[in-house]
Amino acid sequence: MSKLLAELNPSPRILMGPGPSDVHPRVLRAMATPLLGHLDPEFLGIMNETQALLRWVFQTQNTLTFAVSGTGSAGMETCVVNLIEPGDRMVVCVHGVFGQRMVDVAQRAGAEVTVLERSWGDVFPLEMIRETLRKVRPKVLGIVHAETSTGACQPMEGLGELCHEYDTLLLVDTVTSLAGIPVEVDRWQADAVYSGTQKCLSAPPGLAPVTFSPRAVEVIHHRKTKVQSWYLDVTMVERYWGQERFYHHTAPITMIYALREALRLVQEEGLEARFARHRLHHSALRAGLAALGIRYAAVEGHQLPQLNAVWIPPGADDLATRRMLLERFGIEIGGGLGDFKGKVWRIGLMGYSCRANNVLLFLAALEQCLLAQGVRIPEGAAVAAANQVYREHGASQAVR
Ligand SMILES: *Cc1c(COP(=O)(O)O)cnc(C)c1O
Repeated sequence: MSKLLAELNPSPRILMGPGPSDVHPRVLRAMATPLLGHLDPEFLGIMNETQALLRWVFQTQNTLTFAVSGTGSAGMETCVVNLIEPGDRMVVCVHGVFGQRMVDVAQRAGAEVTVLERSWGDVFPLEMIRETLRKVRPKVLGIVHAETSTGACQPMEGLGELCHEYDTLLLVDTVTSLAGIPVEVDRWQADAVYSGTQKCLSAPPGLAPVTFSPRAVEVIHHRKTKVQSWYLDVTMVERYWGQERFYHHTAPITMIYALREALRLVQEEGLEARFARHRLHHSALRAGLAALGIRYAAVEGHQLPQLNAVWIPPGADDLATRRMLLERFGIEIGGGLGDFKGKVWRIGLMGYSCRANNVLLFLAALEQCLLAQGVRIPEGAAVAAANQVYREHGASQAVR
């Protein structure tokens, strides 16, 4: 390498895809904070504060709550490999890509997996799960709360009680839900729950908040075999995040600073206000899309506010539209995954990205992109419909 590369200077972007979402400037500033050593007493204090905030955002009293060094998928793997020993039975509910990923992770961990399937965009009724639990009697049931590939929100009511009736541990993916819609770990009676920093928490990708119930901890402490992964073995990691402060691996200091600041922002806003903000901007976006005749892929009544998966309208080219949005307006939205590839767009309104500015700009930009391709739409209708929602709501649209 003799040529000196130019300093990084990426184009400005508005991240309205399925993650990562835009990072709040305060989080970026926190990341410029000078490093402490990972065993410095001051850093240990920061870890404790972060854990306390994580318990709050997860709505749990669980002692074993911390951030795995890795992205959301590392959180999934942590939950699975610690609960599963080779030969254990696990039921995985699959109604999209992330359920499929959980099946793969569980099989690699040596689980005997039973897949419970539901069509994409739909959710699982409790009775269907009961039937399977009764037949299979698994050690663990895994389910995705907010399926980012379809935009569907799985109702959690009664699921924890049901699992415990059959002596099954409940494992929940809340990567896209945490800090966007209610996640109530203790009320759900969930036993192992993981998330990610890059969706509604609006920090960069790199950490996976996880929490384990006392029931799950008991199971982990009574394993017959060692956890297959050295790095993700919570019996070792808990000695670092817990009282002992036993060195396991060097914590990603800067990412913990980022997570702490992102959680402080959630705390300042308040959980209820944050959920209400996600619902409001979703309503405005939805009204705008409806005015263009664009429909949602997830079933009515179970649509996520923070991830809007919509059918690509006839006459619009998937790639051309997304390229135009990116090149002309700096807006990133997501394409479809798996079965939905080429069929849906995924518009994220997550965390700091969830703002009136973004909704209005996106709708205006989408209109322009569709008109440029000759798609017949009522010009101006989308922005007008979204504005109508904002007007009716009378909400302050100021950026925080
Ligand atoms: C994004 C996502 C993941 C994976 O997270 P990464 O940060 O990409 O590893 C897992 N589950 C769901 C539901 C997701 O949306």
